[in-house]
Amino acid sequence: MLRLPVYLDHNATTPCDPRVLEAMLPYFTEDFGNAASRNHAYGWQAEEAVKYAREKVANLISAESQEIIFTSGATEADNLALKGVFETYVGKGNHIITCNIEHRAVLDPCRHLEKLGAEITYLKVKTDGLIDLDELESSFKSNTVLVGIMYANNEIGTIMPIKEISAIAKKKGALFFTDATQAVGKIPVDVNEDGIDLMAFNAHKIYGSKGVGALYVRRKNPRVKLAAQMDGGGHERGMRSGTLNVPAIVGFGRACEICINEMSGDAQRMGDLRDKLEIALLDIEGTSVNGNKQSRLPHVTNISFKYAESEGLMAALNKDIAVSSGSACMSASLEPSYVLKALGLGDDIARSSLRFSLGRYTTNDEIDYSIEKVTNAVNQLREMSTHLEK
Ligand SMILES: *Cc1c(COP(=O)(O)O)cnc(C)c1O
Repeated sequence: MLRLPVYLDHNATTPCDPRVLEAMLPYFTEDFGNAASRNHAYGWQAEEAVKYAREKVANLISAESQEIIFTSGATEADNLALKGVFETYVGKGNHIITCNIEHRAVLDPCRHLEKLGAEITYLKVKTDGLIDLDELESSFKSNTVLVGIMYANNEIGTIMPIKEISAIAKKKGALFFTDATQAVGKIPVDVNEDGIDLMAFNAHKIYGSKGVGALYVRRKNPRVKLAAQMDGGGHERGMRSGTLNVPAIVGFGRACEICINEMSGDAQRMGDLRDKLEIALLDIEGTSVNGNKQSRLPHVTNISFKYAESEGLMAALNKDIAVSSGSACMSASLEPSYVLKALGLGDDIARSSLRFSLGRYTTNDEIDYSIEKVTNAVNQLREMSTHLEK
């Protein structure tokens, strides 16, 4: 028996892995100490647990423990990176380069910084969702201090040429920040090989709990300085004050540990299922995949269904399959996805697109079921609309 609706929206959030939950539970009850309590065993134990988790989180991205700053999630980490760098380096320059398909958690802080005097370049992406490296190179100015380009896009799953981007930033003397929330734990991410200076990610996209994330902040070559955006008790080496969410952090560590061990197997399995789904859905007339198909996360596909509006499709499907049109944060609005529009899609076709994102527990049966349901829903919707036109 399938549990319905089949969940194919793992880019919005993932279920907590039972092994993660098990690791977290004692830290709500018996081991409830405050990691900043220095005078007793409760505090020491919590501190020890956080230290262990921090090592695991660091290991997943080949960083040092001291380079991990825990936050409430990727949104906060994005804000801390952008605002913290701007505030620190504004004496050197006020120009930031980003791109027009970033998550709102990057675009909105950039808009905010513009009001504070930042100059922001929003690079356009090519029709395949990747930025043009020549365009990046020519957009530098003498006052450029930061490049912020996402690792993998949440709506179409495309993976940016991170090594090339970071090399250009380095050559130009700017710091490189990446929102890697969709990439970490899904594909190999190595902050040194990838040349990353700051990187945001979270737990709830990798089978951990909501409400916790991290900002990686490079400590050497170069040592990145960051102005805190949350002042208080001086936690997280002064960069993010506030009592640590110990259970969630412990779970984040466990989630990272599982990714280290199982990521490549999961990616292989999900990639096979994604390909099966994609090939079957492309058999429907008037369909196409959005974004570069080679440089792409293995568990994601974004498909346009000509003449079948996604609102209608999702309404027809929502008892059977949980999918999304665009990102979770945008799904409240009827506006077509700005990411798809940035690829050059017209409003109509952008409004007729669905994102399917598979996960660790997605089964072959679920994919077979989804193929059947989506195919029927698209055909029915198209029949209905041609009847209406007559
Ligand atoms: C989910 C997501 C975020 C927001 O993460 P939260 O931890 O929910 O704040 C930011 N950026 C990207 C690319 C995401 O996919």
